Amino acid sequence: MMNKNKKKIIFICMLVILSVFILSNCSEILSSDSSETYWINSDSNVRHNSSCRWYGNTNAGYYTTELIGTACGICGG
Ligand SMILES: [Zn+2]
Repeated sequence: MMNKNKKKIIFICMLVILSVFILSNCSEILSSDSSETYWINSDSNVRHNSSCRWYGNTNAGYYTTELIGTACGICGG
């Protein structure tokens, strides 16, 4: 009896973990499908991606989805 319940709980846990894993992968795919936003430093015309420490963090600049400007040497643009 107890063993059967335990197996059931483990099975449900596996399902939950699996579905969370699949869902997180799906959202990753969806987010990479949508056009990425870049930050352009309008002083130097250097482009930063969202993983860069300069993303949205320079004195002058703006967000864009276009691959314009020069790719950043740290983040690769
Ligand atoms: Zn950068």
